[in-house]
Amino acid sequence: MRSYRFTPGPIHLFRLDRGADLYQEISRFATDHGITAATVGFLGAVQRASLRYYDQEAREYRDFQIDEPLEVVSGVGNVTLLDGAPFLHIHAAFSDEHGHGHGGHVNTGTIVFALEAAVQELEGEAPVRLPDDESGLTLWGGGAG
Ligand code: ZN
Repeated sequence: MRSYRFTPGPIHLFRLDRGADLYQEISRFATDHGITAATVGFLGAVQRASLRYYDQEAREYRDFQIDEPLEVVSGVGNVTLLDGAPFLHIHAAFSDEHGHGHGGHVNTGTIVFALEAAVQELEGEAPVRLPDDESGLTLWGGGAG
C-alpha cells in the first residue's frame, strides 16, 4: 500500500455547460487553477458517454460509447501529477431511461447535458503517476510511500 496525507484545501463547486466535454472541462478547471492534488465528484446528465474498460489480461484499454441520454448516478475521481502536469482520473456510473446501469473510466467525448461538479483541493505533496510494470497502468509511485 502507498498512502498520502493531506490537509483539506478550498472546495470548488461549479456547473458545466450543455455541450461541454465532461473530461476536458474538469481537467481544464484543474489546470487553470493550478490544482495538483484533489478529489473530484460530479452528478447530472450527459447526452452521450465515451468510456473505457481496462482489459487486465491484454493490459490495454477498450473504448466504447453509449449514444443515448444518460443520468450520471455517481462520478468520482482525483487529480494528481503525470509528467509534471495535473492529471484528471474519473470514473462514473450512469443509468439509462430504464434505470439500467452502465459505467467505466470516463474518456473525452462524454458530452454534458447538465452537470454539477465538486473539486476538493488537497494541500500537501501531490502523488506522482509512474508506469507500473505489473498492471501496465500509471499508478501513484512518488511521494511518501
Ligand atoms: Zn480509470
